[in-house]
Amino acid sequence: MVLKAEIHCHLEGAASPALVESQARKYNVDVSNIISNGVFVWNDFTQFLKCYDGAANLFRSADDYALLSETYLNELADDDCIYSEMFISTDHARAIGISEQDYIDGIAEGMRRAKEKTGIEARMIATGLRHGGPESVLRAAKYIAGNPHPLITGFGMGGDERMHHPKDFAPGFDVARDAGLGITTHAGELVGPQSVRDSLDYIKPSRIGHGVRAIEDPDLVKRLADEQIVLECCPGSNISLKVYDGFEDHPFMALRAAGIPVTLNSDDPPHFHTSLKREYEIGANEFGLSDVELTQITRTAIKAAFVDEETRKQLLAKLD
Ligand SMILES: [Zn+2]
Repeated sequence: MVLKAEIHCHLEGAASPALVESQARKYNVDVSNIISNGVFVWNDFTQFLKCYDGAANLFRSADDYALLSETYLNELADDDCIYSEMFISTDHARAIGISEQDYIDGIAEGMRRAKEKTGIEARMIATGLRHGGPESVLRAAKYIAGNPHPLITGFGMGGDERMHHPKDFAPGFDVARDAGLGITTHAGELVGPQSVRDSLDYIKPSRIGHGVRAIEDPDLVKRLADEQIVLECCPGSNISLKVYDGFEDHPFMALRAAGIPVTLNSDDPPHFHTSLKREYEIGANEFGLSDVELTQITRTAIKAAFVDEETRKQLLAKLD
């Protein structure tokens, strides 16, 4: 049994089709345009974002969010995951018309229930939406900085990487860093190595979401290894979004061989027909990693986790 950890998963993107359909019944909403035969359907990144939003819009109260985070964490714990970081979005709370506080409290309640039942440790990473623009990311950072929560330990940015320049978002990330939050951002997924380099220069993260396209630039690969920037790799997501044609083309093992700390994550699991369990299976079956090497990847994730040192020590001890 390989113990697992996940540091890159979008909470709303982790809602299973079954849970989304049950929420759709609750709110009397037709989801046949995004779910077919129990599976999310979309064809490209733009449609994927639409599908994601359609599912996310069915979580509308603190109770809904407690159910969502509890359900996902219980699923993870069943697959021997001991630690989870989930991206949350206060912009989403605003969009559905509940307060940021209710949204966060609901998620925290689900985390509490899952931990009580399974022992799984979890934290939230607040995120700004890149396609919402720099002002919205700054606003999200200011909210979290002004309303600290013990389970919100990081700040990041997701959304459409093709929009805006990393330097436009520096003010928001400065606010988050000054508030003591760990910093990560999506880069080098849909856009090439320049997006990773610019993110390092202006956003100054300790981790990069994806970052796989750094492989196209040997100098950048060396920089990531020298600075020990952790990559939150999500191979199943990359194949699903056609960043690479197949696992044989995926640079995970090359990045790892170059000395960059790499981790395995599910991103938006049911949308990409994956799970954290499947990502570790991809590690074993497609990349040839042994159980010892997979456990090392879990160790890398926990070392990079946005968590207090006492909790980190306890988590690492479980791997020994
Ligand atoms: Zn992501």
